[in-house]
This record gives sequence, C-alpha cells and structure tokens, in this order.
Amino acid sequence: MYDVAVIGAGPAGSMAAWKIAEKGHQVLILDRRKQVGHPIQCGEGLSRYAIESNGLKPDASWIKQETKGARIIVPNGKHVLVKGEGYSIDRGIFDRHIAKLARDAGAELRLETRVTGIEKNEDNKGLYYVIRTSKGDHEARYVIGADGPHSIVAKWAGIAFEIENVVGYQYKFDAGYVEENIHYDFQGRNLLDGEWLDFHYASRFPDGYVWVFPRGNEYNIGICGPGGLKERLDAYCREMGLNPEKKMEINAGQIPRGTIIPEFVRDNVLIVGDAAGLTNPITKGGIHAALFSARQAGLVLSEALEENDPEIAKRYDHIMRDSPFTDPVMMKYGKLIYSLTDEAANFIGDLLDGRNYNELSCPVAAVKLLKRPKLLPFIPRFLRIIKALNISSKYGW
Ligand SMILES: Cc1cc2nc3c(=O)[nH]c(=O)nc-3n(C[C@H](O)[C@H](O)[C@H](O)COP(=O)(O)OP(=O)(O)OC[C@H]3O[C@@H](n4cnc5c(N)ncnc54)[C@H](O)[C@@H]3O)c2cc1C
Repeated sequence: MYDVAVIGAGPAGSMAAWKIAEKGHQVLILDRRKQVGHPIQCGEGLSRYAIESNGLKPDASWIKQETKGARIIVPNGKHVLVKGEGYSIDRGIFDRHIAKLARDAGAELRLETRVTGIEKNEDNKGLYYVIRTSKGDHEARYVIGADGPHSIVAKWAGIAFEIENVVGYQYKFDAGYVEENIHYDFQGRNLLDGEWLDFHYASRFPDGYVWVFPRGNEYNIGICGPGGLKERLDAYCREMGLNPEKKMEINAGQIPRGTIIPEFVRDNVLIVGDAAGLTNPITKGGIHAALFSARQAGLVLSEALEENDPEIAKRYDHIMRDSPFTDPVMMKYGKLIYSLTDEAANFIGDLLDGRNYNELSCPVAAVKLLKRPKLLPFIPRFLRIIKALNISSKYGW
C-alpha cells in the first residue's frame, strides 16, 4: 500500500511527488509516456518567479534563453510590454529535472503505464484506492490527479467537471533560418532582438494569439485557438517570410481555457495542474499554476499523512480558492482581451507603444477616447483587462 499514487509525471505530478517523498512517505508516480517530458507540448516560456517561488533554481541544463518579459503586439504593429524576468526553457529537460528530484527523494516512477481507472475501497485497511493500470493494480491511501488537460481522474473521483480546451500548435525553426528570413519590421522598427516573448493578438487569431519565442539556437512560433490552426500558422509564417516547410519540429496539444474545477479535493483524491483547469486566461500558460498547485497539494498531503488525518487534505481546496491562480477578477476579465476589436487593440497600442501596460495615463486615454467615441463602450473592458493583467503579469507564466 503506497501512501500516495500520483497519476501523471508532468511538472505537476513530479512536483507533488517530490514534496511528499521528501517527507519520507511512499509515493508511486505513473505515466503512460515512454519518457518524461517527451513529446514536448509547450511554447516553453516560464517566469523566473514561477521557478523560484516553487523551490526550484534556474538551471543551465534547461534554461535556453533569458527574456525580459512579454510584448503584446497589436494589429497595427505597436506593442505593449509586460515586463518581468523569465526564460525560454527546454521543457523536456525541465520535466525530467523535477521527476529526478522526486525520484532522488524516494518516489517510484513507472513509465509506459496507463492508468485505466481508480476504485474507492473501505475495509479494515481504512479508506484507500485501487489504481488499475495497463500493467497491473496498485493500492494507495491518497491519489493525486496530475493527468493534464484530458484529465479523467477527476471524473473517476466523482467530480463533475468537463475541461473546456483550446488547441496549441507550434513549429520549431532554426534561429539562423529565422533571423535571415523573417520580416519582423513593425512601424518601421525591427523588433527581432532575442530578448522578448512576443504575443501577436488580432481578431484573425480568434480566442488565441500567435507567439514568437526566441530560444538561443531556435525559435518557437505557434498559435492557440479553437481550430483551423495549421492554416493560420502557415499563413502567418509565409507572411513573415518563413517557409513552414522549413520547420524542424511540430508540437501540439490541448490547453484548458480557464474553467476551474469545482472541487479540488474529494474523498482523498486531489486534482492539480492542467487536470484542474489551471491555466491563465490571458496567456494560457499553465506551468506556473501546475507547480504551485502541486506543491500545495504535496505539502498538505504530507501533513495529512503525518497526522493520520484525511481532513487536513481538504485544506488544499481552500488554498487553491484563495490563491491568485483562481482569482475571480483574473478568471472573468482575462478572457476579455479576446473580445477586443482590432480597432480597440490598436488604440491601446497607440497609447502605450513600447511602454509597460501599467503606465497607461488615464487622463491622456480619456482625452484621446473623446475623439474616438466609437471606442467609448470599450472603456470598462480596458480597465478590467488591466486589472487581470496586474495578476497575470506575476502569476500567468
Ligand atoms: C502548444 C502548447 C504551448 C504551451 N505553452 C506554454 C508556455 O509557453 N508556458 C506555460 O506556462 N504553459 C504552456 N502551455 C501549457 C503547459 O504545457 C501546461 O499547463 C503544463 O504542461 C501543465 O502541466 P501538468 O503537469 O498539469 O500536465 P501535463 O504536462 O500535461 O502532464 C500530464 C501527464 O499525465 C500523463 N497522463 C495523462 N493521462 C494518463 C493516464 N491515464 N495514465 C498515465 N499517465 C497519464 C501524460 O502522459 C503527461 O505526462 C502550453 C501548452 C501547449 C499545448
């Protein structure tokens, strides 16, 4: 009987396992993949705060490029900064790094093991779960669902939750090829400088955006949204002077679009990371939330095991509901960025071009808006988006 079975060895699963194993508890991690972190399904942008606030140290083995933050590029080519130190990481090595921390602390990792169901039992051993897998059954007193955006652990635990996903679709290009061929001139300025993570927001990328992330010897160029992504990304690449056929790799995957699970804990099952719908509604980034939620789940479960008190596990639900990752202002208002018309986005670009999003001068904006009465109905939306950005700039990547 394991103390905890963790389903999924992404950043969330490994982080939770690490925190529990380092307290001396018996942890089993199960993942259907052959290798942790492979294939990559990520743009690989991550803030320094996300790393350090979760007890990790930026490590040369998985840091590919330091960045100064994000640039939001609007359709007329103006841009707004969201400053903050961060990195382009190697997601495969990053995921394996956390899995190694868990294993070094004593967790057991079984790969190529698909979990096919969990069954709750109660007998003279107390409450425990039988975890059915493609390679036999296991027993554990607690289960952590870290099984990503297609999570079924939550359903098995009886939590009524459908994750609403969008798709992320990305090409990796050689940096030499990009730097030689890309037309990255906006408003007469060449913005290609290898230090910013760029987000191109425009109505032609509905419910999503195109990203251009520099990463030393390569670039990640991708798109997220509800569908038709290959055509849109190919068209974007061609428009920018890049031949999509020159890509070195394609990465794709589902991304929860900001519907948070109604119960993070039920009957000794805790749900973390993408499995709980925890991605940011503006950036759609989810590694930070995965690390945070999993670390909290791990700490709470360690205490529940030490005190032999399952009631303690329920604290995880309160911690998540009180956390910035589920802040109702951010969840509700963040999505509004996708409802701006190009004209409204261009207006913000004109006001702030090259400056940080929070340097908006309200009197100047008000005077300019009076000359553009068509945009007046957008004022409440602008203000709400800025409120959501205040939270997302720290917790959204
Ligand atoms: C194209 C794309 C680009 C993205 N870009 C970024 C970005 O730049 N920055 C950012 O912060 N976020 C980004 N994200 C989101 C980010 O990748 C996720 O938020 C993050 O991976 C969540 O981690 P997780 O551990 O919760 O889930 P995952 O990393 O998805 O891990 C889940 C694990 O569970 C395993 N699993 C699932 N079901 C089972 C089963 N039944 N049995 C056994 N194992 C199972 C899977 O094999 C997987 O290893 C991107 C996502 C996509 C798709």
